[in-house]
Amino acid sequence: MTKKEKRKKLLDILEKRKRKLIGYIKDGQISIDQLKLQECKDDLDFAEMSFDTFNEEILTTKLACELEEVEAAILRIDDGTYGICDMCDENIGFKRLKAKPYAKYCVTCREIFESKNKE
Ligand SMILES: [Zn+2]
Repeated sequence: MTKKEKRKKLLDILEKRKRKLIGYIKDGQISIDQLKLQECKDDLDFAEMSFDTFNEEILTTKLACELEEVEAAILRIDDGTYGICDMCDENIGFKRLKAKPYAKYCVTCREIFESKNKE
């Protein structure tokens, strides 16, 4: 797969995720402006979330946070900074981006970030 094809694939994943998230949020009928007042504190893996384990309000907040991340990632694709780790400036692997297309850190920095947060 060429670099261009990978980029296209990831953009496709992001766009699909964005539409899905907007759909979820609309169903929840909670305004995004309201949600933006709340901080996106963590960097949870949303794919692991289940609708049963979160109450609707928390879930919608998390979805809105993810939507922001997805939109930011789409902008990064546009300006060419997408897929570069925020901390060490190394390229984030394609495999990781496919699993989490709005990832800001590479696997190594992500681990450092997580262990710092636990302290
Ligand atoms: Zn890094």
